[in-house]
Amino acid sequence: MSLFENTLAQLKKASTIMKLDAHIADYLSYPQRILEVNISVKMDDGSAKMFKGFRVQHNNARGPYKGGIRYHPQVDMEEVKALATWMSMKCSVVGIPYGGGKGGIIVDPHTLSKQELENLTRAYTRAIEPIIGPEKDIPAPDVYTTPEIMAWVADEYSMLHRRNLIGVVTGKPLCLGGSEGRGEATSQGGVYVLTEMMKKNGMKPETTRVVVQGFGNAGANLAKLLDRAGFKVVGVSDSRGGLACAEGIAVEEVLAYKEAKGTLEGCAKTAKGSCKYITNEELLELDCDVLSLAAIENQVTKDNAPRLKCKLILELANGPTTPEADEILTQRGIPVIPDILANAGGVTVSYFEWVQNQMALYWSAEEVQKRLQDIMIPSTRAVVETADAYKCTLREAAFIVAIKRIADAMKARGW
Ligand code: NAD
Repeated sequence: MSLFENTLAQLKKASTIMKLDAHIADYLSYPQRILEVNISVKMDDGSAKMFKGFRVQHNNARGPYKGGIRYHPQVDMEEVKALATWMSMKCSVVGIPYGGGKGGIIVDPHTLSKQELENLTRAYTRAIEPIIGPEKDIPAPDVYTTPEIMAWVADEYSMLHRRNLIGVVTGKPLCLGGSEGRGEATSQGGVYVLTEMMKKNGMKPETTRVVVQGFGNAGANLAKLLDRAGFKVVGVSDSRGGLACAEGIAVEEVLAYKEAKGTLEGCAKTAKGSCKYITNEELLELDCDVLSLAAIENQVTKDNAPRLKCKLILELANGPTTPEADEILTQRGIPVIPDILANAGGVTVSYFEWVQNQMALYWSAEEVQKRLQDIMIPSTRAVVETADAYKCTLREAAFIVAIKRIADAMKARGW
C-alpha cells in the first residue's frame, strides 16, 4: 500500500462514519493540482546535474494551500500527494484558514555543498513560482529543510516579483520575518495535545515514561520539552539507532553529545543513569507509557504493532502508523493521537508567522505560546468529543472534524 493509498483509506473510513456526501468524498480523494519539475543545478565542479521536484496542491476551499518542502532521496509523488492531503486535514482540524499542499525534491541534501543546496533551492523556487505566493500556496520546512533554505525561497521569490514578499514561505529565520517559537512549535503543540489527552486518561507527567523515535526538529525538541516538564524520557533514537535508559535520560546532555559527535552511539551514561545503545526496532518495543513517533512514515506496522508495550501513541511524524497497525492498536486498546492533530503546532505557528508578515508587526514568544495553546487545547477537546459522539478512534474523529469544515467551505463556495 502506498502512503497515498493509506491516506485514502483513512479518508474513506471517516467519510463512511460521518455519512459524507459522495461528491465531497470523491473530490477530496484527488489533489486539485500536481506539478512535477525537472531542474538543472550548477554543481561546485562546474558540471550541471538534473533533479526532480514536486508540488502538490490538495484543496484550497478553506484558504491558500500550505505545506512543507521535503528534501529526501526517497521522496516520490505518491508520498507528496499523501502529505498534501494530510495538510488539508491538519489545517482544518485546528481551524486555521488554509488548505493543504506539499512539495519535495528527490535529493540527499547531505551530499551537497552549501552553495549547491542554495542553487538547488533557488532553481526549485523558480520552477514552482507560478503556483506559489502569499495568497496562493505557502511552503514551509519539512524533513531535511531548514530556516536557511526557507530564507533562500523567500529571497528568490521576492526577487522574481521585484518586491518584498517574504510571506510566501514560513519557517524563516527570525532576522527575516520568522516567528518566535517556530523552532519548537511542532513539539510544543504536541506537548499541549498530549497533556490534554493524559488528563482524560488520569496520567501525570512525573509518572509517565516516554520513548521518542526521531531526534531532529520534532523529536529532539519534544524530548527536551517533556524532560523539562518532568516526564521521564526512557528512550530516544535517530536514523542509526537509539538509547534506552530505564532510570530516564538527561536529554540536554544527549542533545549536546549528538551535536558534538553526530551520533547517539557511544553515549553510555547521562546524569540520570547509564544508557544502552539499541536498534530502532528495539526502541519501538520498549516498555513505556507514551511512544512518540517523530521520525518518518510507516514505522508502526502490522508486524510490530502486536509487540508494542506502550499505553498511548503520539504521532509527531506524518503517517508513522499504517492502517493495518491502526486496527491492531485499536483492538489492543492503545489510543493513537493522530498526526493531523498531534503535529499541527508547527503549521499553527507557521500561520502566526504569515499573519505577522502580512501585518509587519511581530509578537513576543509568550504571545505566540499563548495563542498556540489557545488553538491546540480546544482542538484536542473537539477531537475527543467527536470520538465519544461517534464511538470511533481519535484518528477517525480528527478526520471527521477536519472533513466537516472543508465540506462546509466547499458547499458555501458552490463546489
Ligand atoms: P528532521 O529532519 O529534523 O529529523 C528527522 C529525524 O528522524 C532525524 O533525527 C533522523 O535521524 C530521524 N530518522 C530518519 N529516518 C529514521 C528512521 N528510519 N528511524 C528512526 N529515525 C529516523 O525532521 P523533522 O522536522 O523533525 O520531522 C520529523 C517528522 O515530523 C516528519 O514526518 C515530518 O513530516 C514531521 N513534522 C515535522 C514538523 C516540523 O515542524 N519540523 C511539523 C509537522 C510534522
